[in-house]
Amino acid sequence: MKLTQILLAIIVLSTTVAKAQQIKNTNSFTVIPLGVKGGLDESNLSSYLVAAKGSEQFICLDAGTINTGLQKAVQNKLFIEKNAEIIQKKYINSYFISHAHLDHTAGLILNSPNDIAKNIYALPSVIDVLKSSYFTWKSWANFANEGDKPILNKYSYNYLSADSTIAIPNTSLKVTPYILSHVKPYESTAFLVGNNNSFLLYLGDTGSDTVENSNKLKTLWTVVANKVISGALKAIFIEVSFDNSMPNKGLFGHLTPKLLMQELGILNELSAGKLKNVKIVVTHMKPCENCEPLIMEQLKNANNLGLNIVYPKQGVAMIF
Ligand SMILES: [Zn+2]
Ligand SMILES: [Zn+2]
Repeated sequence: MKLTQILLAIIVLSTTVAKAQQIKNTNSFTVIPLGVKGGLDESNLSSYLVAAKGSEQFICLDAGTINTGLQKAVQNKLFIEKNAEIIQKKYINSYFISHAHLDHTAGLILNSPNDIAKNIYALPSVIDVLKSSYFTWKSWANFANEGDKPILNKYSYNYLSADSTIAIPNTSLKVTPYILSHVKPYESTAFLVGNNNSFLLYLGDTGSDTVENSNKLKTLWTVVANKVISGALKAIFIEVSFDNSMPNKGLFGHLTPKLLMQELGILNELSAGKLKNVKIVVTHMKPCENCEPLIMEQLKNANNLGLNIVYPKQGVAMIF
């Protein structure tokens, strides 16, 4: 082979590799956890930024903590911009709230004076709580576009319909909400986030079907099972709030390691045993003395399916 032919072959090969990489990237996600816990430490409560890899337009799934999480992300050099307030304004595209409990909304409410005009997406039952309990002038200034006057019109409520997919402006992301049961009759939400042919599933707080006497998780597992089988579903963010010693009457719509494994066992069966290919990101542990190591130990011991269980850290990026 002549030198020119060899060079040409190298160029063709490297362009092909670059293209394959590009295609891979357009299907991937960057997740930046802004808060990962389910209580106690108010600087680290449920909130996850999600973007298509390479994009700086993040959607914010729950908003328990924003500012401290962004400061941690800056320390970890995840943004060129150094100012957390500017990052919130410029790089958070919109908010998706699973349910209105304070550990999922406090960051949004408290940082609202600093923010710019954006969409808040949630089920009608969740928006009703924001409208009637938080952005009311009694609890906080009404930065939203409906409710108690004067209306400051910064945030626009977008009412989601369960099971209907919407495209998010200025991103390549699509989101489909599914209803979860979080102490009957209260609703929480799972968000299935799609980027082309890849998906992440984020669940807000949820009880197990057995304890809640519900079929919401079974219905969700049935919907996503084909994406587990095809490899399109990359990760499931799901809560474990308490260790196994918590009796059912003390769960208040949350999961333990035992209940999580029961539920994931059902999904694994529906997915032809392929669930071990999906990262299981455990969120929302409620801190108490030694609870977190105990929950991790109990999950490890109950992991007969060989699932890939990971623990998110505040301000540390995850790629899926
Ligand atoms: Zn919570
Ligand atoms: Zn909750």
